Amino acid sequence: MTRGNFISFEGGDGAGKSTQLRLLCERLETIGIETLATREPGGSLGAEDIRKLLVSGSIDRWEPLSEALLHNAARHDHLHRAILPALENGIWVISDRFADSTLAYQGYGQGVDRAKLALLHDLAVGDAAPHLTLILDIPVAEGFDRTVSRPGKTSRYERMNSTMHERLRQGFLAIAAAEPERCRVLDALGSAESIHEAVWQLVCERFNLETQADG
Ligand code: ADP
Ligand code: MG
Repeated sequence: MTRGNFISFEGGDGAGKSTQLRLLCERLETIGIETLATREPGGSLGAEDIRKLLVSGSIDRWEPLSEALLHNAARHDHLHRAILPALENGIWVISDRFADSTLAYQGYGQGVDRAKLALLHDLAVGDAAPHLTLILDIPVAEGFDRTVSRPGKTSRYERMNSTMHERLRQGFLAIAAAEPERCRVLDALGSAESIHEAVWQLVCERFNLETQADG
């Protein structure tokens, strides 16, 4: 099928996705694997424009189904303009969020009908899927503390209330339980270094990498 491998990081805000993605890409590069670090919403020119519509402005600026459509429009562009071309060239793609975030946020969090989300997923993504999805699980309060101490503006999603964030945490755990072959849940409360070691172990196991070779 594809030549590169596709890994996604999922989880709530402040779980450490961006931090772990950077550490994983650096580690893969040290053993000679070329990586594309990317993110959703975004990751291609058009999708980054759509991202601006999603992450800024008032919390209720979109109908939940409209929001799901925008995420899927962005994802289709990202997939065809960035992810699939990289994989075809043997580059590993590591994405900060992918389709599970739409099911968690718009489905579990915002209550969009599951059958409608499945239809959109089928149109936008088809049978493309990450080979491995790492779900960083953190209690809502701790994730919130990390996002407020992080530099920069808070996004529209970060401003949603803790009830919403609890629903989407449970959503990610339900997704992991439904797809145990693809998904691994990691406790995101430890140090960034200890979580990185756990991530690295899982990646080495999943893709049969030589863990001894780089210590
Ligand atoms: P996400 O991308 O999931 O929202 P980030 O990687 O941006 O999370 O991390 C959120 C904030 O918490 C950042 O300021 C980051 O430096 C910090 N952080 C990341 N991982 C850890 C960790 N394991 N322990 C403590 N702080 C962390
Ligand atoms: Mg991030």
